[in-house]
Amino acid sequence: MFGTEYLLIPGPTPVPERVVRAMQQPIINHRGPVFHEIMAEVVDGMRKVFKTAGSRIMFCPSSGTGMIEASAVNFISPGDKVLVISIGNFGNRLAEVAEAFGGDVEKMDFEWGTAADPEKIRERLAADTRHEIKVIMVTHNETSTGVFNNIEKISAARGDHPAIMIVDAVSSLGAIDVQMDNWKLDVVLSGSQKALMLPPGLGMMAFNERAYEVYKKNTNHHYYWDIDKAMKFQAKGETPFTPPVSIYFGLQESLKMLLEEGIDNALKRHLTYRALIRGAMDAIGLKNVADEACASPGVTAVYVPEGHTPGELRGIMLNDYNMVVSGGQGKLSDTTFRIGHLGCIREMDLVSCVAALEMTLKRLNVPVELGAGVKRMQEILLAK
Ligand SMILES: *Cc1c(COP(=O)(O)O)cnc(C)c1O
Repeated sequence: MFGTEYLLIPGPTPVPERVVRAMQQPIINHRGPVFHEIMAEVVDGMRKVFKTAGSRIMFCPSSGTGMIEASAVNFISPGDKVLVISIGNFGNRLAEVAEAFGGDVEKMDFEWGTAADPEKIRERLAADTRHEIKVIMVTHNETSTGVFNNIEKISAARGDHPAIMIVDAVSSLGAIDVQMDNWKLDVVLSGSQKALMLPPGLGMMAFNERAYEVYKKNTNHHYYWDIDKAMKFQAKGETPFTPPVSIYFGLQESLKMLLEEGIDNALKRHLTYRALIRGAMDAIGLKNVADEACASPGVTAVYVPEGHTPGELRGIMLNDYNMVVSGGQGKLSDTTFRIGHLGCIREMDLVSCVAALEMTLKRLNVPVELGAGVKRMQEILLAK
């Protein structure tokens, strides 16, 4: 096949040409003056993306899960009661990580395909009159089901309960609004390879003063992930251990792109992607996992037609149309596929994806009217 594949998975996502070029710069001394300037610039830029004025931002060479671990080791002490709110596979991962580091986990599960109910969370926390729950962990955008949680309402549901809240914003930051300060989020973690339009390999975590106070009393083991070590080096524009210098060049550029576009405009762009994909699935007659009200702007999980497997469908899309979509996750593995539409995606990439999907379904003898989904997308785009 000519050129690169259409990469429409929920991370890693396509990297824009500007960012690729920025990353081609020769490697520099990570303890030299140019790196010091880059560090200052990306800390400042990330604060704008997290929408926080004063939170500290820690970077670590890591995938997103590494940052979940970083949050666990720094903010959960062994024996702490941790309330994990789960609406899917990534919510379950939060519980696993918290448990692995000694957290006494209580999981609140909500049905896959729906969002967490802030009212139920309010009730649970109100019942905790002795304030035994120390930490709340929640996924912002649940990548396995294509559902996003209303983090503003979940945070407000705490009332005056003192537990700190850790938010996994790996697949939301840059695609779905995160207002760290306004919503009083204590810890927000993310990764480079989703809506931040970078290759995998750099994790970031923002945390406020309240969280820092909790860290200071923390009794867990931490060395690589230790916050104070990171902050001590950041004061000099450095990291304790060798940073992925090329990804910092890329981050410098992708932040420039995001801020030129305007973060809120980027969020709107993702709403268009959601409308396009959901509109197309409706027109084709495929069922989305997520309810309309909580459907993710960044990823859509779709049920495969009865009698077919995600593997069959994805195989044809890949081999014959160079179109890469994801399989399902967890208990949705055998019944769903997922289209990632976050980061550096063009509307026409999604139109191509739907055109390929329609032909794939036709070849699988699924009754589908060729062009129905594409037509719906064209109508949505013309009405914009
Ligand atoms: C992608 C993702 C992660 C991180 O996954 P890694 O493979 O470790 O980068 C964590 N949480 C959510 C919600 C994600 O979508």
